[in-house]
Amino acid sequence: MIKRKSREEIDIMREAGRVVAGAHKAVEEAIRPGLTTLDLEKIALDFMVNAGGESAFKNYRGFPGYICTSVNEEIVHGIPSKRRLAEGDVVSVDIGVRFKGYIGDMAVTYPVGQISEDAQRLLDACRISLEQGIEKVHPDHHLSDVSRAIQSYAEGQGYSVVREYTGHGVGREMHEDPQVPNYVNGGWGFDPKLKPGLVIAIEPMVNCGTHETDRIVRQGWDVVITRDRKLSAHFEHTVAVTEEGHEVLTQL
Ligand code: MG
Repeated sequence: MIKRKSREEIDIMREAGRVVAGAHKAVEEAIRPGLTTLDLEKIALDFMVNAGGESAFKNYRGFPGYICTSVNEEIVHGIPSKRRLAEGDVVSVDIGVRFKGYIGDMAVTYPVGQISEDAQRLLDACRISLEQGIEKVHPDHHLSDVSRAIQSYAEGQGYSVVREYTGHGVGREMHEDPQVPNYVNGGWGFDPKLKPGLVIAIEPMVNCGTHETDRIVRQGWDVVITRDRKLSAHFEHTVAVTEEGHEVLTQL
């Protein structure tokens, strides 16, 4: 069931979104070769807690970390560890905060030091595919318009989009209806109109090679990686449908 939010609820979600965006800014300013992914987690967690929020990910379905850090061929659900980031790595940082009972969810793939041109092209394509999807969020449109915009941009740049994992409605719960796929082929049984008050986390996962994924178990948890071990990127914003179009809630 799709739960639309009141104006008051969206006001709180905007605050939650600002906390997540602030945590990302702190990570972005600190990130450099030699830091561990646990260091990134501490930076993000300190920011969230100081702002009055808490991690929405810790213990979610048993997730052992406070944020997700997925390096290179890891797509999503990577666990912060003692792994040191090296020059040329890319790290997808996904941060979810619970603030005053509501969730803000945002992901960015960051370059570590100087990265290759190929890696930068992938990051740009994933970020722009998210922007193209967000542009379609409007009460005149359906959910598939968002999905189509993401897929056609990413594939037009020569990349693939992950199928098995999708964006989602968000509110008091991290994963609410509807699912927000990043592709349209395969048939849609369900394609809701984007009504004002709907809040969705849009999160393309874009791969250099195949869209197919594998899972590897770490600390009893499934980390998702590309089947061909090529690079992957992940960008996400929490977006509200408004009367006029949309508002990105995860920004400063
Ligand atoms: Mg999400």
